Amino acid sequence: MKQSQLFTKTKKTISEQEPSINAQLLERAGFVSKLMSGVYSYLPLGLRVLTKIENIVRQEMNKLAGQEILMSGLQPKENWLQTQRWDKVDILFKLKGAGDRDLALGPTHEEIITPLVGQYIQSYKDLPQYVYQIQTKFRNEARAKSGLLRGREFRMKDLYSFHTNEKDLDEYYDKVITTYLRIFERCGLGELTYLTFASGGIFSKYSHEFQTVTQYGEDIVHVCLKCKIAINKEIIADQSSCPVCGNQDLKEEKAIEVGNIFKLMQRFSDAFSLAFTDKEGKQQPVVMGCYGLGTSRLMGSIVEILHDEKGIIWPKEVAPFHVHLISLAREEAEIEKAEQLYLDLQRVGIEVLYDDRAGVQAGQKFADSDLIGIPLRIVISAKTLAQNSVEVKERAKSTAELIEIDKLVEFINRD
Ligand code: ATP
Ligand code: MG
Repeated sequence: MKQSQLFTKTKKTISEQEPSINAQLLERAGFVSKLMSGVYSYLPLGLRVLTKIENIVRQEMNKLAGQEILMSGLQPKENWLQTQRWDKVDILFKLKGAGDRDLALGPTHEEIITPLVGQYIQSYKDLPQYVYQIQTKFRNEARAKSGLLRGREFRMKDLYSFHTNEKDLDEYYDKVITTYLRIFERCGLGELTYLTFASGGIFSKYSHEFQTVTQYGEDIVHVCLKCKIAINKEIIADQSSCPVCGNQDLKEEKAIEVGNIFKLMQRFSDAFSLAFTDKEGKQQPVVMGCYGLGTSRLMGSIVEILHDEKGIIWPKEVAPFHVHLISLAREEAEIEKAEQLYLDLQRVGIEVLYDDRAGVQAGQKFADSDLIGIPLRIVISAKTLAQNSVEVKERAKSTAELIEIDKLVEFINRD
C-alpha cells in the first residue's frame, strides 16, 4: 500500500485523557480512532493487525476441530430469563426493539449457542461438537480507561464444546490450554502470558485464566517463575506457595486477563434441557465447556508490552505489513527504481507499506516508521542506489546495513 494514499496520518499527541500506552500509541500511529470511552473504530492499519490476530486464532481453532459460525449481536430477553441472568449480569446492555420487545446486546453467547446446538443433537452419535465464533461483544463496563484492554464494544473469540461425559470434556479442555499458549506465543506474548489458576475452591479445576503481565493490567497475579504459572490474587490467600512445584518465592505482578476457559458442566444444558440419548437409550445431559479469548484486548496487550519511546514494535506474525519501504528519492530515475522495488517485493508476496510521500522530510518519515512499528524498515535513496543497494534496519534493533537490491528478497525471507 502506498502511504500517500492512506487516508490516516500520524499524530504528535492525543488527548491526555488516554493514559494507557496502547491507546496513546495506537491512536497516534493511526491504527484506531476513539469514538467514546471504550468504543473504537479500526482504521486501515489497525484492521490489518486485528485481522491477523483473528486469523491466527481461527487457524488454531480449526486445528482443534472447531467449526466457525457467526451468531447475532442482538439477543432476546427470554433466553436470558431462562438462565436467570437477565437481572444478574450487571454489564448487560438492554434495549427495546420494535413492538416494545426487550433485547440485549450480547456480552457472551451461552444463551444463544446452547439452544442453537440443541436443535441438532439427539444421540451420543452427534457428540462431541466444537463450535466457535469471532465476533463483536458489548458490555456496559463501569470503567473503560485502558484503550483496547477494556472496551464497551470489543472483539472476542468464543468457543463452546459439547460432550457426552466429563472425561471427554477434560481431555478437550487440556488441548485448548496448549492451543491458547501457542496463540499467545505466535502473537509475541509467550514470555509474559501465564496459565493462571483462577476461581473456586483450592485451585479449581473448573476454570483457568490466561494473564499477561503488564502495567495497565487490572488484575494482580502471583507468578511462579519456576513453572511458568500464576495464581490469581483472589485465591492466593488460601495458599502462599505455588500449587504445582511448592515454590514459596512468588512474584506479585499486575496483569490483564487475555483468555478465560471454563468447564460449564451442565449449567447451561440444564437451563435449556440440552440432552442426548446414550447407548442404552437413556436421556443424559450434555456436558459443556466454553473458552473465551479477547482478540482486541490481545492487540492492546501486544502494544502495552512491545514498544519503546519511539513507538510500537510489532511481532512479525501480527504486523500490519512485513516491510516499510521508505523512499527518499528525488530524481525521476530514482523514484522509478523505488516504485519498481515496491512492485517487485509485492510480486513475491511480501506485504509492503511504501512511503512514497513527496515533500515529507526524511526525519518525519523515520519518526512515523518507528511509531507505526513495522518489523523491517528499508530505505531507498540516491545514496543507497549509488551502490545498487538499500539500507535495511529491523525496528527492534538500532543498527542498519546495506543490502544489494538483487539480494533483498532472499535477505527478507531468510527467516
Ligand atoms: P475482566 O475480568 O477483565 O472484566 P471477564 O472475566 O469479564 O474479563 P470473560 O467473560 O472471561 O471476561 O471474557 C473472555 C475474554 O474476553 C476475556 O478473557 C478477555 O480477554 C476478553 N474481554 C472481556 N471483557 C473485555 C472488555 N471489556 N474489553 C476487551 N476484552 C474483554
Ligand atoms: Mg474472565
